[in-house]
Amino acid sequence: MSRFQVRKVAVLGAGVMGAQIAAHLVNVKVPVVLFDLPAKEGPKNGIVTKAVEGLKKLKPAPLGVAEDAALIQQANYEEHLELLKECDLVIEAIAERMDWKLDLYRKVAPHVAPHAIVASNTSGLSITKLSEALPEEIKPRFCGIHFFNPPRYMYLVELIPTPTTRADILDQLETFITTSVGKGVVRAKDTPNFIANRVGIAGMLSTMKEAENYGLTYDVVDDLTGKKLGRASSGTFRTADVVGLDTMAHVIKTMQDNLADDPFYPSYATPPVLARLIEQGALGQKSGAGFYRKV
Ligand code: NAD
Repeated sequence: MSRFQVRKVAVLGAGVMGAQIAAHLVNVKVPVVLFDLPAKEGPKNGIVTKAVEGLKKLKPAPLGVAEDAALIQQANYEEHLELLKECDLVIEAIAERMDWKLDLYRKVAPHVAPHAIVASNTSGLSITKLSEALPEEIKPRFCGIHFFNPPRYMYLVELIPTPTTRADILDQLETFITTSVGKGVVRAKDTPNFIANRVGIAGMLSTMKEAENYGLTYDVVDDLTGKKLGRASSGTFRTADVVGLDTMAHVIKTMQDNLADDPFYPSYATPPVLARLIEQGALGQKSGAGFYRKV
């Protein structure tokens, strides 16, 4: 098997995940070109500044950051898709909306290099359904690549093949992630929300429900569900703010749309407080307010 060389990666979507995946890749010396819509259309692109620009300011600067991270953020960014020809890997990380992703794949497909791997960072949408927007020649080179948030620190990446993903493509991607990117891989089946989110969201929802039942504050719940449970990361409500409340709602919807017959289904109802906060535009860290007023 010839060695898969990643000379440049395209990341589509520069939100919470796309910007940080790009920043991490650049930090491990993989050049990246990052695409997004203008800030007024794409709401939370301050994260880009924090992730990519923040890395540039570190002293000493991580290798390659200043020169190797290019951000194309404009309404007509599609005019720049010819840059994809130079990319050996394309990671899609736009919002968790099947219709938006399918639309983007149709636009992007003609510009992808004939050998390139194309992968979605979706939290749990069907990878097989996503692949349906791609031409036959790209389908064998398409799979899910699910990084966890924050991708700079979280070790695990889920790789999710479709029935048409070529086995050697998955092997090549796994080698790239475990060697160049410095992370561990678990291969997951193309089931709703794969492994970690399937388990994780169910846990978060039942915690939120019990917090309401017992009238517990977010601080108390986070204290109990964070370090005291042996989790290095933050507790339930802080984690939701970091994930993004709109993204969390989309992941819950994937459960609701696909697992209605699951005996645990009732626990997948969207907590009213989550819906209320989203309506107010409080989306968590990316919008400056969420469960915690200032995050
Ligand atoms: P986000 O809302 O922070 O960012 C999405 C970005 O996509 C925005 O900047 C938006 O402007 C941009 N966008 C939308 N349409 C676009 C288009 N056509 N072209 C280019 N850019 C476009 O979302 P996020 O949290 O970064 O999530 C991105 C993906 O990663 C989703 O599929 C999500 O489920 C998944 N994911 C999220 C997390 C998390 O904790 N937030 C973790 C793992 C995976």
